[in-house]
Amino acid sequence: MVCTKCGHEVPDGEAYCQFCGFNVSDSSGNEEKAKTNSSKDKLIVIAIIAVFFIIIGIYFIQDAVEKKRRDEEISKATQQVLEETKEIVEDFEKDADEITK
Ligand SMILES: [Zn+2]
Repeated sequence: MVCTKCGHEVPDGEAYCQFCGFNVSDSSGNEEKAKTNSSKDKLIVIAIIAVFFIIIGIYFIQDAVEKKRRDEEISKATQQVLEETKEIVEDFEKDADEITK
Protein backbone atom coordinates (compact mmCIF):
# COMPACT_ATOMS: atom_id res chain seq x y z
CA MET A 1 0.00 0.00 0.00
CA VAL A 2 0.98 3.67 -0.17
CA CYS A 3 1.54 5.88 2.89
CA THR A 4 -1.31 8.38 3.01
CA LYS A 5 0.96 11.00 4.66
CA CYS A 6 4.12 10.99 2.52
CA GLY A 7 3.09 8.87 -0.47
CA HIS A 8 5.92 6.35 -0.13
CA GLU A 9 5.27 2.67 -0.79
CA VAL A 10 4.76 0.72 2.46
CA PRO A 11 5.06 -3.13 2.34
CA ASP A 12 1.84 -4.96 3.19
CA GLY A 13 1.73 -6.02 6.81
CA GLU A 14 3.84 -3.02 7.98
CA ALA A 15 1.99 -0.90 10.53
CA TYR A 16 4.24 2.17 10.22
CA CYS A 17 5.70 3.98 7.22
CA GLN A 18 9.49 3.50 7.08
CA PHE A 19 9.95 7.06 5.77
CA CYS A 20 7.76 9.22 7.98
CA GLY A 21 6.62 6.85 10.74
CA PHE A 22 2.97 7.39 9.94
CA ASN A 23 0.66 4.69 11.30
CA VAL A 24 -0.52 3.10 8.07
CA SER A 25 -2.60 0.37 9.76
CA ASP A 26 -4.81 3.02 11.41
CA SER A 27 -5.48 4.80 8.13
CA SER A 28 -6.25 1.50 6.38
CA GLY A 29 -8.63 0.74 9.25
CA ASN A 30 -10.32 4.06 8.60
CA GLU A 31 -10.50 3.24 4.91
CA GLU A 32 -12.19 -0.07 5.72
CA LYS A 33 -14.61 1.74 7.99
CA ALA A 34 -15.35 4.17 5.18
CA LYS A 35 -15.90 1.23 2.84
CA THR A 36 -18.32 -0.35 5.32
CA ASN A 37 -20.12 2.98 5.59
CA SER A 38 -20.38 3.33 1.82
CA SER A 39 -21.65 -0.26 1.53
CA LYS A 40 -24.16 0.59 4.26
CA ASP A 41 -25.18 3.64 2.24
CA LYS A 42 -25.54 1.40 -0.82
CA LEU A 43 -27.71 -0.99 1.21
CA ILE A 44 -29.88 1.92 2.34
CA VAL A 45 -30.24 3.11 -1.26
CA ILE A 46 -31.09 -0.45 -2.38
CA ALA A 47 -33.60 -0.72 0.49
CA ILE A 48 -35.20 2.59 -0.50
CA ILE A 49 -35.39 1.46 -4.15
CA ALA A 50 -36.82 -1.90 -3.04
CA VAL A 51 -39.45 -0.19 -0.87
CA PHE A 52 -40.25 2.14 -3.78
CA PHE A 53 -40.78 -0.82 -6.11
CA ILE A 54 -42.80 -2.69 -3.46
CA ILE A 55 -45.09 0.36 -3.09
CA ILE A 56 -45.47 0.59 -6.88
CA GLY A 57 -46.12 -3.17 -6.99
CA ILE A 58 -48.76 -2.96 -4.25
CA TYR A 59 -50.36 -0.03 -6.07
CA PHE A 60 -50.52 -1.99 -9.34
CA ILE A 61 -51.78 -5.15 -7.61
CA GLN A 62 -54.50 -3.17 -5.81
CA ASP A 63 -55.40 -1.46 -9.08
CA ALA A 64 -55.58 -4.83 -10.87
CA VAL A 65 -57.65 -6.37 -8.04
CA GLU A 66 -59.99 -3.37 -8.05
CA LYS A 67 -60.32 -3.55 -11.84
CA LYS A 68 -61.00 -7.31 -11.68
CA ARG A 69 -63.61 -6.77 -8.97
CA ARG A 70 -65.28 -4.07 -11.06
CA ASP A 71 -65.20 -6.31 -14.15
CA GLU A 72 -66.75 -9.13 -12.14
CA GLU A 73 -69.49 -6.81 -10.86
CA ILE A 74 -70.18 -5.58 -14.39
CA SER A 75 -70.27 -9.12 -15.79
CA LYS A 76 -72.55 -10.20 -12.92
CA ALA A 77 -74.87 -7.28 -13.57
CA THR A 78 -74.83 -7.98 -17.31
CA GLN A 79 -75.62 -11.64 -16.67
CA GLN A 80 -78.49 -10.66 -14.38
CA VAL A 81 -79.93 -8.32 -17.01
CA LEU A 82 -79.58 -11.04 -19.64
CA GLU A 83 -81.35 -13.57 -17.41
CA GLU A 84 -84.16 -11.12 -16.67
CA THR A 85 -84.49 -10.32 -20.36
CA LYS A 86 -84.57 -14.05 -21.12
CA GLU A 87 -87.35 -14.55 -18.54
CA ILE A 88 -89.34 -11.66 -20.03
CA VAL A 89 -88.88 -13.08 -23.52
CA GLU A 90 -89.92 -16.55 -22.31
CA ASP A 91 -93.02 -15.10 -20.61
CA PHE A 92 -93.82 -13.17 -23.76
CA GLU A 93 -93.42 -16.33 -25.87
CA LYS A 94 -95.74 -18.23 -23.48
CA ASP A 95 -98.31 -15.44 -23.75
CA ALA A 96 -97.93 -15.42 -27.52
CA ASP A 97 -98.44 -19.20 -27.60
CA GLU A 98 -101.58 -18.91 -25.46
CA ILE A 99 -102.96 -16.15 -27.71
CA THR A 100 -102.32 -18.17 -30.88
CA LYS A 101 -103.93 -21.32 -29.38
ZN1 LIG B 1 5.06 7.91 5.04
